[in-house]
Amino acid sequence: MAFNGWRKQVMQSLLTPKLGHDESDLLINHANLTALQLDGRFATHTHALQQQIDVQAGQLQTAPPASDAAPHPNAHAIASNGRRWLEAPLTDTKRCDILAQRVALDPMQKGNMPLTLMCRLASCDITQDTYNRLYQKNKQASLCAVSLKHAAPATWALPIEQALSIVSKALNAHDKQRLNKLVDQGRLCLVAFNTMLGNVCVMSSAGALIQLEHKLHAVDVIALSHEVGHALHMEHRWHQGQYWPADVVTSEAQAINMERQVLSETAHPKAALLKQAQVTFYGPWHWALHQFELGLYALSTITPDQLDYLWHQCTHAFAAPKGGWRHVQHLYTSPFYLVCYPLAAGVT
Ligand SMILES: [Zn+2]
Repeated sequence: MAFNGWRKQVMQSLLTPKLGHDESDLLINHANLTALQLDGRFATHTHALQQQIDVQAGQLQTAPPASDAAPHPNAHAIASNGRRWLEAPLTDTKRCDILAQRVALDPMQKGNMPLTLMCRLASCDITQDTYNRLYQKNKQASLCAVSLKHAAPATWALPIEQALSIVSKALNAHDKQRLNKLVDQGRLCLVAFNTMLGNVCVMSSAGALIQLEHKLHAVDVIALSHEVGHALHMEHRWHQGQYWPADVVTSEAQAINMERQVLSETAHPKAALLKQAQVTFYGPWHWALHQFELGLYALSTITPDQLDYLWHQCTHAFAAPKGGWRHVQHLYTSPFYLVCYPLAAGVT
């Protein structure tokens, strides 16, 4: 088994555009283009695919939107502002600029909620009342979260073959087969720890593709479980002909559920600690990150010092590592995605 990149033939198979005129073909082409862009080796070969997407998108422009949630009027500008995060060099000045643009493009609405957040909640069928209730409840809980400050982070790192065997044991026969196929076809690749993107799962017409970080050839079993949860969910949807991506909360709920499934099947001596770490991670930690996102709106200027102070305020109760805001990719690339994790953990 090779894990040093997605298999070349698999990626090459994505280059041929689907020529149909319906939305499904557009969505498949789009998913394949995203996968090819992430892989990077075929960047100069995607012209035909890109062209076909433009044609299909033009034809479908008059069709009603597939999702009920209204798109954000600045969605395109917000997305391209976020993409700057992936372009080197990434300096503090650039980070601050991306965040300042983010706030300018998506101002706080009358209801004290930026439109991106309202769209996120609407597309995930979460009412504003439910969101407010959970947010307030967790703010209260964070006031007595002192014990978390001293909780040592539990990790579970193993060589990929062993990690796969543990995850596989938690699956039913059907899903086990899907995971085996994913690995055999070279759709699981390992990258050095601390890449800009981190762990990723994307869908393509060749099946789900997972990119996972490794540290000295060991991967985090929980992170692998999470991405496998996404992969199986995405493949299940595609096999049913649902090519439109699932809403974020549903997708993350499936991934978090897979982590729980693996943890409850395992006899690891630190299983209880790992379960607690998962609760902390998707609970207080992500609510603190969410508070940081909302806190951006109250800053008169966005400077590294201001952000350090805001970070300190938001994470004070949770003993977050210093300088942590700099590396949280979703703060820059996907506004208000982070709050979907605790919402997903709450609904599974
Ligand atoms: Zn996820």
